[in-house]
Amino acid sequence: MSNDKLLDGLLSPGFDERSCLSRYRSFLYRKASQHKPSPYLLSKLREYEDLHKRCGPHTRSYNETSKRLKSSHTRSTGGCNYIVWLGSNGMGNRIISMASAFLYALLANRVLLVDHGSDMTHLFCEPFPNTSWILPMDFPIKKQFHTLKQRHVRFRDISEESPPSFVYFNIPHGSYDFDELFLCDRSRALLERVPWFILSSDQYFAPSFFLSPSFKQEVSKLFPEKETIFHQLGRYLFHPSNQVWGVITKFYQTNLAKTEQRIGLQIRVFNRKTSPFQVVMDQILSCMLKKKLLPEVDTQNSVRSPPNNSSKTILITSLYSDYFENMSAMYQSKPTVTGEVIRVCQPSHEEYQHKGDNLHNMKAWAEIYLLSLSDVLLTSAGSTFGYAAQGLGGLKPWILIRPKNKMVPDPACRRDKSMDPCFHYAPRYECKAKNITDSGTLVPYVRHCADRQTGVKLFNDHKRL
Ligand code: GDP
Repeated sequence: MSNDKLLDGLLSPGFDERSCLSRYRSFLYRKASQHKPSPYLLSKLREYEDLHKRCGPHTRSYNETSKRLKSSHTRSTGGCNYIVWLGSNGMGNRIISMASAFLYALLANRVLLVDHGSDMTHLFCEPFPNTSWILPMDFPIKKQFHTLKQRHVRFRDISEESPPSFVYFNIPHGSYDFDELFLCDRSRALLERVPWFILSSDQYFAPSFFLSPSFKQEVSKLFPEKETIFHQLGRYLFHPSNQVWGVITKFYQTNLAKTEQRIGLQIRVFNRKTSPFQVVMDQILSCMLKKKLLPEVDTQNSVRSPPNNSSKTILITSLYSDYFENMSAMYQSKPTVTGEVIRVCQPSHEEYQHKGDNLHNMKAWAEIYLLSLSDVLLTSAGSTFGYAAQGLGGLKPWILIRPKNKMVPDPACRRDKSMDPCFHYAPRYECKAKNITDSGTLVPYVRHCADRQTGVKLFNDHKRL
């Protein structure tokens, strides 16, 4: 199989192609990545695939280890440790936190199992060959998940003499415990003795590992280009199911295939009162025109000048339809000053976030994927929906700053310096000093996010490249 198809060796060739058409066809839709995965990452992924096959659902090791959940404490297990991911919130949140959980699995030699519940079924293909990453329905403590979610177990409650068979953490709630968990050696050593780590998270906590004395060397070796973590792991893990792929490819062929430039515009309005329609619309146009992403319309001349044969298509994703209506009316009514033809399209407008709705989540996932096929991307500040798209596409987006007091911000947008998602809750705990610290100032490659000052994200360490 060609290296293009396998994304420079990121994907393993051993899958049945028909069961997941997107896996080996993404290269036909997305531009080749400028960022090659490191040989060390590739070898680690192949090792992980073997581990998952050996320890995955219903293997002897899995059966042995899950029996232990019924007894209160662990002694011998089937030789495998697990991380069980439970998601919450929207698709962007879920995708970036699953990728972080997988990174943790790679670093801590755990096997990742995901609980996709009833609202994430048939969204993704299996990422690991000849096994499954789906937590089995009969997982012994599955019925307790709901009650566990209400009750955060504190790290200091874990007994060193007799570690439990499972621990449950909810990130970022109780975040000092979380910081301690990933960042401090003592906690890490203790956790190694707990076979089941149940993690409920909606966050991209990957930057934490670069601040951890015990993980930072390994994670730097895996990702010499630090800001490509999600780009690599996301393209490795998240392949749309055939059903979602059908939606993506149909929309792509109809609207995006024949254009010269695809501009993704993700409009996430967190509060319609503080960010009313006209303010956001003015902001988008101000950003796109000032940054020369789009040409102005020719207000003097309503007769269409002969097109210069160049066309651009704006792919809008939004819960609402008014931005699409406004922009398409603008570019339909008047020619552009450059003669370029501008088309506008939008796959859906769901009006509000539907909780627990599988079909709604499928649309969200399809749109995240479509955005990731853009040549240029504009995203809304603080939205994980946009983070997932930019990371998959390897794109540094123009971020639309969140309006304050119903005013168009100045500047309207700012170019992100890193494609990696932002971790909204920067770690604050410093292990050695047992102190609270500002983790956005400790090292040059973990800095505060442009769209969220309280968060941190990864940047390439140019001094070391
Ligand atoms: P965030 O809240 O912006 O960080 O992004 P999430 O993806 O985590 O949550 C927002 C959820 O609202 C999505 O998963 C969708 O369910 C819905 N949503 C928001 N914007 C859009 C959109 O542009 N298209 C679709 N289809 N759904 C959206």
